[in-house]
Amino acid sequence: DRTKRGIVIEDDWPGYSLDLFTYPEHYHTDIECVYIPHGVIMDRIERLARYVMQDFGDNNIMVLCVLKGGYKFCSDLVESIKNDQSTEDLHIIGSRDLSFLRGKSVLIVEAIVDTGKTMKALLKHVETFEPKMVKVAGLLVKRVPHMAEGLTDYVGFEIPNHFVVGYALDYNEYFRDLNHICVISKTGKLKYKV
Ligand code: 5GP
Repeated sequence: DRTKRGIVIEDDWPGYSLDLFTYPEHYHTDIECVYIPHGVIMDRIERLARYVMQDFGDNNIMVLCVLKGGYKFCSDLVESIKNDQSTEDLHIIGSRDLSFLRGKSVLIVEAIVDTGKTMKALLKHVETFEPKMVKVAGLLVKRVPHMAEGLTDYVGFEIPNHFVVGYALDYNEYFRDLNHICVISKTGKLKYKV
């Protein structure tokens, strides 16, 4: 199924020149390009919300948000789902004890899946509570060697192996205030190094 990979961004995609968009001025030497503009992210999320609603049907959706990078994606995805169906049945959870997930339909929301290690561990943990079903939404999935195929049910974008920031994805806590997904520059990497 070709749609499984989401919007595929090829290795040679240079991104958009910074001059074509607006962004917090203090980052102007810290990012190379606008890799995925905010508007495109939002449009893609609307479509992901549709897939989620098709699969979950009338089941209550328990949304498990992987913080901190996932919070913008999570809130925008949930908003899109809400706009389309009345849901007092949408629960956003973050607590440690997940035993109430037994028999429930769970959506795990993560901004970026790289090697997939984080997601695999979380999935294993969630499954010990015996939910009825578990699906994973990843806004970005990196095309890396040994990439975790089939781990993410709803993929926003498949991207090359670059370090990206923005849209809540940080580098040492910086860039969370950037709306677009951008590639960090050498200067930016040095400047915000810990
Ligand atoms: P994984 O376990 O899949 O290798 O790593 C996933 C985690 O690594 C993500 O939750 C994220 O925190 C971090 N990560 C991986 N690639 C990037 C990236 O390009 N940018 C940012 N900001 N974080 C990343």
